[in-house]
Amino acid sequence: MNKQKRQEIFARLRDDNPNPKTELNYSNPFELLVAVTLSAQSTDVGVNKATDKLFPVANTPEAIVELGVDGLKSYIKTLGLYNAKAENVYKACQILVEKHNSEVPDTREALEALPGVGRKTANVVLNTAFRQPTMAVDTHIFRVSNRTKIAPGKNVLEVEKKLLKFVPKEFLLDAHHWLILLGRYICTARKPRCGACLIEDLCEFKDKTS
Ligand code: SF4
Repeated sequence: MNKQKRQEIFARLRDDNPNPKTELNYSNPFELLVAVTLSAQSTDVGVNKATDKLFPVANTPEAIVELGVDGLKSYIKTLGLYNAKAENVYKACQILVEKHNSEVPDTREALEALPGVGRKTANVVLNTAFRQPTMAVDTHIFRVSNRTKIAPGKNVLEVEKKLLKFVPKEFLLDAHHWLILLGRYICTARKPRCGACLIEDLCEFKDKTS
């Protein structure tokens, strides 16, 4: 895909949705970190239902440490992998209290040192809470980047690096939100809705649906 096409694709996505946001509910970096950590193999809607009850009771590292692992489980037991998630969030909160003055760190290294926080979660927090130009490549972004040929790659890291290289600078901060939304609602896994797609004429997918 050439530079002009990428420019036009992101210009259209921006014009359609100038201020894209994550669909996870949060009101500060700590809530975002917890919500993203809970979202592995769960839907944003499911995570929001759990955190809508959890955050009014505990939305600081200290409060979650106070709640304890079992207390935390009682709020998130509707989510897949909730046992492991509760352990990870609890231990991450202990580290935030002990090493980071109860603040969410703004570096990849410190974030990835927290239990349950991988590269994708760190990228979401760095981008969404701290407005750093990172690409949190999830299954939707991976699919859309490959189908369209915006940033084709064999694995998520390859796609992440290509997106950082090829997405025009002016769109870098919000590109991952636009691509997630495109993948979630239009360029869906089983059958992309090409007829309803804003970028159909620019996309280079060979098997477009009518
Ligand atoms: S045209 Fe089809 S394949 Fe291309 S991005 Fe849109 S929905 Fe996906």
